[in-house]
Amino acid sequence: MAKGKSASLRGLGAKYGLKPRKKFTAVHRLLKTKRKCSECGSSKFGREAVGIWTCKKCGFKVAGFAYDVKI
Ligand SMILES: [Zn+2]
Repeated sequence: MAKGKSASLRGLGAKYGLKPRKKFTAVHRLLKTKRKCSECGSSKFGREAVGIWTCKKCGFKVAGFAYDVKI
């Protein structure tokens, strides 16, 4: 049975087995989630580096977690 591959699974391929791939997918999805800047409300808010989250519109910078930010 041919199953459609999720786009977010790309980049890891069939390597590493199922468990890490599932983890990767969950983390990747969390990472790519659109977030709103708490300063200007723009959705251009994203991770700049591990633990550093910035808004590309107003430059608002906040320290958060590696893959997610809770503000
Ligand atoms: Zn902003």
